Formats: sequence, C-alpha cells, structure tokens
Amino acid sequence: MKIYNTLSKRKEEFEPLEEGKVKMYVCGPTVYNLIHIGNARPMIVFDTVRRYMEHKGYEVNFVSNFTDVDDKIIKKAIEEKVDASVISERYIAECKKDMQAMNVKPATTHPKATEEICGMLDMIETLIEKGHAYMAQDGTVYYRTRSFKGYGKLSHKNIDELQGGNRSLLVTGEDQKEDPLDFVLWKPKKDGEPYWESPWCKGRPGWHIECSVMSKKYLGEEIDIHAGGEDLIFPHHENEIAQSEAANGKPFAKYWMHNAFLNIDNRKMSKSAGNFFTVRDISEKYDLQVLRFFMLSAHYRSPLNFSGELMEAAQNGYDRIVTSVTNLNYLLENAASDTMSEEEEKLIQEAKGYIAKFDEAMDDDFNTADGLAAIFELVKFANTNAGDRSGRAFLQALKEEILMLSDICGLIVEKKQEMLEADIEALIEERQAARKAKNFQRADEIRKELLDRGIILEDTREGVKWKRA
Ligand code: AMP
Ligand code: ZN
Repeated sequence: MKIYNTLSKRKEEFEPLEEGKVKMYVCGPTVYNLIHIGNARPMIVFDTVRRYMEHKGYEVNFVSNFTDVDDKIIKKAIEEKVDASVISERYIAECKKDMQAMNVKPATTHPKATEEICGMLDMIETLIEKGHAYMAQDGTVYYRTRSFKGYGKLSHKNIDELQGGNRSLLVTGEDQKEDPLDFVLWKPKKDGEPYWESPWCKGRPGWHIECSVMSKKYLGEEIDIHAGGEDLIFPHHENEIAQSEAANGKPFAKYWMHNAFLNIDNRKMSKSAGNFFTVRDISEKYDLQVLRFFMLSAHYRSPLNFSGELMEAAQNGYDRIVTSVTNLNYLLENAASDTMSEEEEKLIQEAKGYIAKFDEAMDDDFNTADGLAAIFELVKFANTNAGDRSGRAFLQALKEEILMLSDICGLIVEKKQEMLEADIEALIEERQAARKAKNFQRADEIRKELLDRGIILEDTREGVKWKRA
C-alpha cells in the first residue's frame, strides 16, 4: 500500500510503526456552525482511508478532535449571550448527525480542546524548560520557532524566506515577540472570554498546541498518519511538528496526508460571495450517500469542483450500484437452486478480479476514482450474468462482493425494505412465547433480527414497545 507523504513529496510504501496497527490523527472542525461541504471532504476521505486499512486487517486507532475554544465560537457566544460551551456542544451534536448521515464512522476518540487543558499546560511547560518557548511581559507564551531546526520541513519552506514575509504582519502584542516567526502557545484572556489558570496568566491556549497534546495522549508520541486539509500544512501542521518533536524528542508522524480543496462552480467557497453550502443544505436535495459518492469520485489530492451537474452524475452513479443490488435481492427471493453450478463457480472467480482491481487502485494512494470504476465494472458484470435461472449461492456471492467494496467506500447501497407493522408484531409475539418457554436463545435471536432490520425493542412494565431506528 502506497501513501503520498507531504513530508517527502512522494509516494511511500506504508509500513506501520507497530505490526498490524495504525495510529491515525485527523484534525477536526472548529465547532461554531454547521459543517460545510468543504469540511465534509476530509471527513469522508479519511474515513475511507480508515475503512480500507481495516479491510486490509489493520486495527486502526483513529483520533479526531473538536476545536471547541476559538475566536469564532466566542464571538457567536457573545452574540447569543450564552456560554461558549453552549455553542460548541450544539455544533458538536449537529456535526455528529451529519457524520452519521454521511456514514462517517465515529472516531475511536473525539477529544475536545477544553477537556485537555492540563496536557497543554504540561507540554508548554516542557517546551519552556527545554528552551523552545518563553513568556512575554503580558503573560503570552510563544514558541521560539528558530530553536527548532526542522522548521519548514513539511511545507518545504525556507525559514529565512518566511521571516521576510511575516515582518509586515505585526499585530498587538507581537512586539513582545523575540522573532516575528514565533507563534502563540498560550495567551492572556480578554474580558468575557473563557479562561483557565496557568503558571503564566489566566488565559487560553493557542490553536496549534491542542493537536500535539491530544495526539500524544490518545495515540502516543509517535504516530503513523496525521491528516487534514491542505490549508493546514502551513502553519498548523508545521507548528504541530515543531511542538511535538521539540517536546518529545522523537519524530511525530511518519506519514502526512492532505486532501485538496473543494470549490464551488470553480470558485473558492465563500459565505460572503454566496457560494457556500452546509452539509445540511445538501441533505435537503440529495441523500448524503450521493455527496459521499461525489467526494470519492475524484482522487483526494486533486481539487474537486462542486456543481449541480456533477452531483446529478454522482446521483446516477450511486443509483446504478443501488439498482444492481436491489435487482440481485429480487432474484434472490425467487432463486430456485441452492447449489452453485460449475459455470457459476467460474464466473465468481472472474468477479474476484474486480476486487483485485479495486484493491490495486486503493493501494495506489487511495485512488477512489479508480476504485469506484472497479465497482462499476463489477456491477456491470453482475447485471450481465445474474438472471432468473441463477442459483442462490451465486447471486449471494455477487451481492456480497458489491456490498463489501461499497462498504469500504462507506457507501450504503442496499436499501432495506421497511418492515411491515404486522410482521414486527408477529416476531415480538414469537419472542414473548420463546421467553415464556425459557428459550432465551431464540428470544435473543429475534431481538437481533429485528435490530438488524432497524427495529429497536424496549421491554417496559406495560409490555414490549418498539420503534424504528
Ligand atoms: P476548520 O474547521 O476550518 O478547521 O476545517 C476542518 C477541516 O476541513 C480541515 O481539515 C480543513 O482543511 C478542511 N477544509 C476546510 N475547508 C475545506 C474545503 N473547501 N475543501 C476541503 N477541505 C476543507
Ligand atoms: Zn490539528
């Protein structure tokens, strides 16, 4: 499996730090609003990376943070006259709903910046002790950028050129910096802002420190993959490397992955220019599975343009897979023989070729565009070769292949038929009878069967109640 590493600017063979395990950190959103479709791109892309790694047998520890203390959150809290946590908690909940609708798996851990302040204070203290950070007169703590020899290695920038460019950007308090390149680790509070006690001043962390700290706490000092959108390469990820490597004395992440940007109608997404969509906006017109399909139709390192036309194409592409699975289900219901004929055995062997093709595309730096093309070929193969006279085992094998590849892409392509009320009630009755007869195994089976079909049972004093998931 090859991954393009921003650090080396080339594709490298993936070799995990620990056999069979992947430690992966993805910078998450700042939660002051509903997430937009630009934010959805890294979520979908890196969820697919994770799913593919899991398919390959790796155990993936996937950490993605929520930045829940930030100027924009505070501004909104002041406008609404509520605590900043009211804003961040609201949008974390909304973000999780969007993630679920896009079939993005929850991370192993979703840490929040405000719950990790202690770790940040520790790391800042270590950086001061090691001479990599200092406190200015007003209590601000700055990172001494030039003290870190590798600064610029990720963004491939020369530190001396950076300084020239930054000199004109002096803002309040920056005159207390030793060097214009130094960046904030901790800053004093302003009136009405949330703050924490610290050895330097009552204040709050700069943005970059949270990821270094959370990554260390939940994944360890050295991790396999660190990822995010390409706008984060500089300065965010460059600063994270400077903080982590200076504090821990070890290389931080082995592979750095960055997705390219999503534009709308070939223009940069911008609220003020009126070309801006939240994921929620899109969900009013499309199933978010279509948005997911659209995101994966391009390679993650290529810029992607969002337009109505391309979404229609994505809808057609997605529907083609769904229709094929629906058709296989229909054939399965009526299939006569259970055994696989010799000819069918051969066809299944042939169909395996599409899995190999899919894997080959994904092994080449997660080329989902070619991966989807392999799924289409498989769908076409299934449409051509499955018919009224096909056997059950053959149809089932074809369906499972399509479902497996789609699932690696996070695409839900089997539309489960809603259960009829009468069927649900009948199963509940059977379960009650099984319980009475102390056949708890059967009772559990029925509960699970219903759950698989989206029905949740609740045993109450008034009897068994059910609801759709
Ligand atoms: P933010 O909340 O701005 O920190 O963004 C969260 C994630 O979304 C980061 O990984 C960003 O790089 C990514 N992101 C923001 N806008 C876009 C966009 N238009 N296209 C692709 N990724 C984006
Ligand atoms: Zn980050």
